[in-house]
Amino acid sequence: MKEYLLPRTGRFYKANLHAHTTVSDGKMTPAEVKKAYKARGYAVVAFTDHDVMVDQTALSDADFLALNGWELAINEARPWSHAARTYHFSLIAESPEADRQVFFLPRGDFRGNAGQYAAAVRTTGETVYAYNYSPIFANRLIRAAHAAGFLVFYNHPNYSLQTGDDFLPLEGLDGMEIHNGASYSWGFGDDGNTTRFDRMLRRGHTSILPIAADDNHAADTEDPANELFTGFMMIKADTLSYTAITSALKAGHAYASQGPEIYELSVEEGRVHIATSEVREILLRTGDRGAERRFGQLTEADFNIRRDMGYFRFEAVDAHGKRAVTRAYDAARFGR
Ligand SMILES: [Zn+2]
Ligand SMILES: [Zn+2]
Repeated sequence: MKEYLLPRTGRFYKANLHAHTTVSDGKMTPAEVKKAYKARGYAVVAFTDHDVMVDQTALSDADFLALNGWELAINEARPWSHAARTYHFSLIAESPEADRQVFFLPRGDFRGNAGQYAAAVRTTGETVYAYNYSPIFANRLIRAAHAAGFLVFYNHPNYSLQTGDDFLPLEGLDGMEIHNGASYSWGFGDDGNTTRFDRMLRRGHTSILPIAADDNHAADTEDPANELFTGFMMIKADTLSYTAITSALKAGHAYASQGPEIYELSVEEGRVHIATSEVREILLRTGDRGAERRFGQLTEADFNIRRDMGYFRFEAVDAHGKRAVTRAYDAARFGR
C-alpha cells in the first residue's frame, strides 16, 4: 500500500520561521515584513524578535498567518565577543494562547528596541537570574519551553561556533536550522549545518525538522546580497489556521528549501518516490553510508529503502546549487 511521507491532502504553505522586526534589531516593522513576504508568495511568517515576544496575530488575514515567538540567546561569555559560543533558539508558540515567556531575564541585554517591550512581557513565573552556557541549562530551557506550549528550533550552529559537545546533548529539539539567511549573507557557508543535522539524526533524534529560514534583519531593498527570501519552509496543511500550521510542523509535514520544490514523497513496498521541480541532483542520505545520488535533468527519482539503514532523507539540488532538504524517516518502518 502506498504511504505518503508528505501528506497527499492539503496544500503547501510557504513560510519564513525566523524573522526580526523593529521590535528588536530588524529594519522593517512587523507590518512591512508581512507585506514583503506576502508579495513573494509566503503565507506564514513566525515573528521571532530577540528577547521579547509581542503578539503579532492581528496581522493574520485570509492569506497570511502570523506566528508568535521570540529568539533566546545563551552566550558563553559576557561581555559579548566574536569568539564566544552561543546557543540561539527560536521559540514559536504552538497556539496564540501560549503567551507566557519562559526563562525571561527582566534585566537582560536587550537587542535593538526589545527593552521597550520588556515591561509588557508575560512570563511563566520561573525566576531565572542569569543564563548558564551549558547543554544542561539549554535542556532545562527546552523542557520549560515545551511545557509552556512552544516549539523549539536550534538556530545557525555554524555562526554560533558550536561543536558537537555543545549541540549533540540537546534533547527534544523540534527543528534545527540547516540554512540561516543572515549568517549566510554575512559569509558563513551553510553546508556545515547539514552535516551537523546528520550528526544529530545519527544520535537517534530523527524527528528533528531541518529548518531553512531567513533570520531577516534587512529592509526589503531587492539587494541580491541580503538575506531576504533565501531560505523557506513548505508546510503541508489542510488550512492556514494557526494550529493547523503548528500541528503540521510538529508532525513533520514540511520540508526546508533554498529554492527547489518537492511535490510528492511517498513509499510503496520499500521503494520511495520523490517528485520535484527541475533539479540537477537528487540525493538519498541515510543513517549509514548507503547514500545514493541521481544526476541529470530530474523531476523525480525512486530509491530502495533497506530496513537497516537507520533513517533516510532526501536532498534535491538545482542548477544553481540551491537545495531542498526533507526530514528523516524511519527505515525500519518503511524499508524492506
Ligand atoms: Zn538580530
Ligand atoms: Zn535571529
